[in-house]
Amino acid sequence: MKKVCSVCGWEYDPEVGYEEGGIAPGTAWEDLPDDFVCPLCGVGKDMFEDA
Ligand SMILES: [Zn+2]
Repeated sequence: MKKVCSVCGWEYDPEVGYEEGGIAPGTAWEDLPDDFVCPLCGVGKDMFEDA
């Protein structure tokens, strides 16, 4: 399931991952580190919602 940042709209797609941040394609949102932050605005995981 995709997640979207409620502040800036950046979207995390598990199929794509976030390679610039060291997150491999296929990494589920639940498996991201607890200290993951939005690449654009820097908020934490608790500010993301279901896309
Ligand atoms: Zn953001």
